[in-house]
Amino acid sequence: MSFSHLGLSEKVLAAVAATGYKEPTPIQDQAIPHVLAHRDVLGIAQTGTGKTAAFTLPMLMLLEQGRARARMPRTLILEPTRELAAQVDESFAKYGANHKLNVALLIGGVSFGDQDFKLTRGVDVLIATPGRLLDHFERGRLLLTGVELLVIDEADRMLDMGFIPDIERICKLVPFTRQTLFFTATMPPEIQRITEQFLHNPVRVEVARPATTLATTAQFLVKSGREDFDKRDMLRRLIRSAEGLKNAIIFCNRKRDVATLYRSLKRHGFSVQALHGDMDQPARMAALDQFRKDEVTLLVASDVAARGLDIVDVSHIYNFDVPFHADDYVHRIGRTGRAGRSGTAITLVCGSNDAKAVAAIEKLIGRTIPYMDAPDGAGAASESGAAAPRSNGGRHHGDRRAERHRSHGGATRQPQRPAGSVARIEEARTRRMPQPPARGRNDDGDAAHLPAFLLRPVPVKA
Ligand code: AMP
Repeated sequence: MSFSHLGLSEKVLAAVAATGYKEPTPIQDQAIPHVLAHRDVLGIAQTGTGKTAAFTLPMLMLLEQGRARARMPRTLILEPTRELAAQVDESFAKYGANHKLNVALLIGGVSFGDQDFKLTRGVDVLIATPGRLLDHFERGRLLLTGVELLVIDEADRMLDMGFIPDIERICKLVPFTRQTLFFTATMPPEIQRITEQFLHNPVRVEVARPATTLATTAQFLVKSGREDFDKRDMLRRLIRSAEGLKNAIIFCNRKRDVATLYRSLKRHGFSVQALHGDMDQPARMAALDQFRKDEVTLLVASDVAARGLDIVDVSHIYNFDVPFHADDYVHRIGRTGRAGRSGTAITLVCGSNDAKAVAAIEKLIGRTIPYMDAPDGAGAASESGAAAPRSNGGRHHGDRRAERHRSHGGATRQPQRPAGSVARIEEARTRRMPQPPARGRNDDGDAAHLPAFLLRPVPVKA
């Protein structure tokens, strides 16, 4: 079945043909006719199903009539993260090549002035993260009473990030009569409540997770030592021994761990970039761009920053941490094995909490993930990274501690110590420190959260 039966205009069909898509995906097939008929749509679909085009293509056609007025956007798309918002912006540029539409992006980390200037020119499509949108609204720079169509994308992610109160507020600021398209991968009770409150007699369109993800990705667990430097050592060995590794995303649960792991890998001579919510927007976009263009091989990322990103061809996924939520595992490994290509996903497992989280994942995906043997020598290397080139600067505190330990003994040159000795120093140190509380969710959001410095362990006097 081609796109032509969906009721899209010639202009939109020409743009679709230019992208090379031959036929609509199931979500496009089911949703587009209803969007064109001005119905509210509740789409249960995750990234990778083609849902962006499912709302972008009919929106383009609906926007062919009418004009935008200053500060009164005609349509509004809400996205949980800046990256997803930027990705939707790119989709409008691609699919809207034959339309003269003003598209504005309101995301954090970018100057208000430029965004404000765009709003004054009149905006056909406003793509925003909730916080920045409300900032503009509160400054009186934006009126939402002209919104004819509202898209709420990745609603369950909005819930995870604490954006639901913002969403409720925005829904009350746009006209009651607008059309609403609501997309979510899952339907927790809070999301169900929102849909009942703000959608009018919606058409429910549900598509399965892309089956290819699980079918074409080889998944393994590997046992690792509990300490971070054990895990970093294991990860390096896994990467070095990986067959056919073209590029890889390495997921951490916390953004501060993303930063630490990134520095460590860089010091060990790997070609690596980082992506987490504390980086400013230009740095995030630059990191992503480098990874997409194959200028770096590894991307260390947090879930929120990487969620839904359209990176087509990733050969390996490493879960440096087992995700807190089983659903995140599916999202993470969904970055590989795309479009029928094969991929490999390896998860480092240490301790009983990890084992519990793995059991939840296995229940969700309906299969057992086998353990693989640790690559040779895992656990035997020091964190000083003798096996790979490294720069002199930016040494890790683990190295410095080991060095202090050596110099304390009065020797200027010591044989290289196995990780165990560093481990003992680290262990003695951690015994003296209160540990950060276990956290219920990943902490990398644009939502309000405890600043990372409050979560860092603090040395206490014995
Ligand atoms: P999304 O779920 O919107 O993030 O889309 C995932 C990927 O599917 C993107 O790379 C799109 O360019 C691609 N895509 C969307 N629609 C189609 C289609 N009908 N045929 C082939 N690829 C598509």
